[in-house]
Amino acid sequence: MTVSMGKTLHESNTCERASMLRIRNLKCYYGRIRAINGVSLSVRPGELIALIGANGAGKSTLLQTISGLLQNWEGEILFQKEPLKGLRPPGIVERGISLVPEGRMLFPPMTVLDNLKLGAYRRYRRREHTAIEEDLEEVLQLFPVLREREKQQAGTLSGGEQQMLAIGRALMAKPRLLLLDEPSMGLAPFLVRLILDVLVQLKEQGMTILLVEQNARAALQIADRGYVLENGKMVLEGNGCDLLADQDVKRAYLGKDYREFCEGRS
Ligand code: ATP
Repeated sequence: MTVSMGKTLHESNTCERASMLRIRNLKCYYGRIRAINGVSLSVRPGELIALIGANGAGKSTLLQTISGLLQNWEGEILFQKEPLKGLRPPGIVERGISLVPEGRMLFPPMTVLDNLKLGAYRRYRRREHTAIEEDLEEVLQLFPVLREREKQQAGTLSGGEQQMLAIGRALMAKPRLLLLDEPSMGLAPFLVRLILDVLVQLKEQGMTILLVEQNARAALQIADRGYVLENGKMVLEGNGCDLLADQDVKRAYLGKDYREFCEGRS
């Protein structure tokens, strides 16, 4: 359902029924500052959802809250019908949610291989060694350049390779839901395309994905549905194509060319 910017957003009942992740009336705080103000969102199994919005809209805050990195929040977050309230990040990873954080947050002095294995550290405790080796092989097939660089320190990789490593590390936790915070940031266009193609490939393999992006056009092109966040409030929801065609989204988020085009017509 698409609504105009600034109007109230209501989720459809069908969306709520089948959700893997369901967020209702979420409010997040940094001390006394409210960064998210009554946000609702749902992600169904197998969907690729894009969350777009300007700087400071609250996108990272939302992902960090889902991941348990921010604990000061009100409202409801259900993952596979279970509340996430009170769970710390390790517990949330255990439930099946992995975050690829903004800025990648790798361990630069450690090798590529060790960074990948760290993504599976809780699984090592459960002695899932064989499954971990299989997943490692899958990640190295997904990103062949990481195999070439496996003994290299993560800090010596290019930006694109580091992003691949951050995604690979998140996959090593064997998530059901993958959260990505601005994976295209600072990358050349061909690398952005490569990363987004990998996300499409993961979706085709059944992964559920919530993608935060400032590169709204690229994100909406591959998304099943998208949400637009503005100043801590969800102002728009729709399928990827509808949002790409939406005049308000074009004006606000799809770049100078689109804005000039629209202004020239108005
Ligand atoms: P960007 O694309 O720039 O990362 P964003 O949409 O991810 O933007 P957030 O980083 O979630 O936005 O920030 C949402 C709001 O919360 C902003 O007003 C920001 O200034 C504020 N904020 C973020 N981190 C903190 C913090 N640690 N302490 C206080 N306020 C914060």
